[in-house]
Amino acid sequence: MIINCQNLAEKIKEKAVEDAHGEKLVLHAILAGDDEASIVYAKSKIKVLRELGFEGKIDRVSSEEEMLKKIEELNARDDVHGIMVEFPLPKGYDAIKVRSAISPLKDVDGMNPVNYGYLLMGDEIMTPNTPRAVIKILESITELKGKDVVIINRTPVVGKPLAMMLLNRHATPTVCHSKTKNLKEKTKNADIVVVAVGHANFLTADMVRDDTIVIDVGINVVDGKLRGDADFEEIEKKAKITPVPGGVGAVTTACMVENLVKAAKLQGII
Ligand code: NAP
Repeated sequence: MIINCQNLAEKIKEKAVEDAHGEKLVLHAILAGDDEASIVYAKSKIKVLRELGFEGKIDRVSSEEEMLKKIEELNARDDVHGIMVEFPLPKGYDAIKVRSAISPLKDVDGMNPVNYGYLLMGDEIMTPNTPRAVIKILESITELKGKDVVIINRTPVVGKPLAMMLLNRHATPTVCHSKTKNLKEKTKNADIVVVAVGHANFLTADMVRDDTIVIDVGINVVDGKLRGDADFEEIEKKAKITPVPGGVGAVTTACMVENLVKAAKLQGII
């Protein structure tokens, strides 16, 4: 069974537009290097912002020093309400330094250690968009309290913040990674499996039970087509699963818009 994420994404965007009260909010995405996927993602986010009546700009930089200067400039500007840095950063950039430089009040991707710290303490002020999208999808179809959730990813962008958000909602997360033993045993026993590995067909139908909910975060290009990390066709026959494209990615973009509006509220703009 396919989990419909498009309606949820639309609802989140509609609510964000309503909450903005006609304010033309501005987000800047800072891009370093020539990573093709990052350029495509940044452009697609800006397209969505413009469709909703907001503004998005891309700033290209060519060194860490230039990036930190750009962040400082954007932090100080009253006409900029949100800042995002596109990851992955090129080799040699200090990710913690970059994340720490973004003002916590303009930190649309929830990556500043201050916002991360709040999340750890159970206070979700500005949180990373992908794990928040996963939570919103799950909450639209199930009760999280008491659920066993296996997350296959331990990165600061997906797995770690998602585990914190699940704990905040009384679920029981198990965070798995490339060194995890007996992964199939764990996924078979889970009520919910979140997969974000970056390998097409990583999660196969024999790894999940009939009533499992599968959230597919992965994005892979196979024969020119976008695919997630799960064997969608086989799993869809027995369990609930999000599609790729039109699943987690669509809700993540909507969450970015939601966070831009939240950032503007924190800055006292609306
Ligand atoms: P990443 O940095 O490459 O991390 C991949 C994670 O998967 C790591 O934790 C890694 O474990 C784990 N892993 C790799 N091979 C494994 C194996 N054989 N068994 C168990 N775990 C394994 O990637 P990422 O940036 O977190 O992104 C992951 C995927 O999600 C990518 O496809 C990316 O495009 C997608 N993504 C989608 C969105 C969205 O909004 N839809 C947002 C972000 C990312 P180790 O830590 O041990 O290496």
